[in-house]
Amino acid sequence: QPQLSTIGQQMSHLTGVRAIMKDIIETLQSGGGRDFIDLSAGNPVILPEIEQMWRDCTQDLLASPDYGEVVCRYGSSQGYQPLIEAVANDFNQRYGANLTPRNILITPGSQSIYFFAANAFGGYTAGGNLKKVVLPLCPDYTGYGGVSLVPEAVVSYKPSLEIDEENHRFKYRPDFSQLQIDDTTGCVIFSRPCNPTGNVLSDEEVGKIAGLAASYEAPVFIDSAYAPPFPALNFTPMTPQFGDNLVHCLSLSKAGLPGERVGVAIAHEDIINVLQSFQTNACIHSSRYGQAIAARAIASGQLAHLSESVIRPHYQRKYAVLAEALQQEMPKHLSWFLHAGEGSIFAWLWFRDLPTSDRHLYNELKQAGVIVVPGEPFFPGLQEDWPHKRQCLRISLTAPPEALVQAMKRLRGVVEA
Ligand code: PLP
Repeated sequence: QPQLSTIGQQMSHLTGVRAIMKDIIETLQSGGGRDFIDLSAGNPVILPEIEQMWRDCTQDLLASPDYGEVVCRYGSSQGYQPLIEAVANDFNQRYGANLTPRNILITPGSQSIYFFAANAFGGYTAGGNLKKVVLPLCPDYTGYGGVSLVPEAVVSYKPSLEIDEENHRFKYRPDFSQLQIDDTTGCVIFSRPCNPTGNVLSDEEVGKIAGLAASYEAPVFIDSAYAPPFPALNFTPMTPQFGDNLVHCLSLSKAGLPGERVGVAIAHEDIINVLQSFQTNACIHSSRYGQAIAARAIASGQLAHLSESVIRPHYQRKYAVLAEALQQEMPKHLSWFLHAGEGSIFAWLWFRDLPTSDRHLYNELKQAGVIVVPGEPFFPGLQEDWPHKRQCLRISLTAPPEALVQAMKRLRGVVEA
């Protein structure tokens, strides 16, 4: 075994949910024919209309004289020009933005944007100061836990909770009395809608975070992997926000193209230049095939249209089924709370008086034939030992409605026991 560097050691560990996924895959594979209900998946459902759209775009590419140019050659590290133009035109028309191609970078998936950002804007400066990667509230995307080559740079803050005891609902809000954005802040990252909670920060909350960060010239990366215009997995109205220090980060993964690795950063040209150089050093550019079919789906307006008419209703229905099943099944006297379902492909459950840990509850549910994801990995960067971290579960809305209902019946049995 060659000796690993500090970074090598750190990057060769699985962090967050990836570590639990290993256990889940082993459980499913060694299940011995047992019919587990799998509510752990982060992979989107393959929706027939969406698959057909990607097939049509592929056929169009195959028939086009551009085919050789697209797949047989390297391209610009900024991205495939027709895709950059399609995104700029779409956002200019839709939101009255004033984007030029210089404001756009195409990356191999959006995860890479956060990796480039966390290490370009966060970490140690030449003067030896630690610039932090601030997650303004947790829980948030577990993938932020592994993005920095300087792990101590990632810090997150406890939210405040709005609790509706009567209806067993709750919602997280940024706690501005705790949140520290100051001259130690390198950049800010949050997902909106949020994986795992389905929370959508209000335009006002986003504005406030952006304003704080602007005072210290820190860029704010708004992870819009579930946001409009595609995949439009918001169940509550929300408007993408733009501004000099805001970076709007798109992903095509939840719009049916996770395998092709296409992410988009939209920002001030100075920020784009930094990210683009980082990307050139790391991996040159994203898949050109993926970019070429994405350009077609966006330019025709089909992707935005099908996102609203097919993708959003699919998951919104699932959330409604789950909420109804919980209301029917779960004992009223127990203190369980479902997070407000404002978007994403997940639901988030909190058990306030859980006498054990999320990990134990996950194991007990596994015994009952239901696989969920324990909540603790979704608090990356939170140093404080907060009991709430061990009281939550993430439930994927990718399972069929009957499976969701059946799983909530089994959950009831476990929780009662
Ligand atoms: N951000 C969030 C909130 C996600 O849920 C995911 C994937 O699940 C990603 C980023 C990474 O997506 P991509 O496939 O674009 O790298």
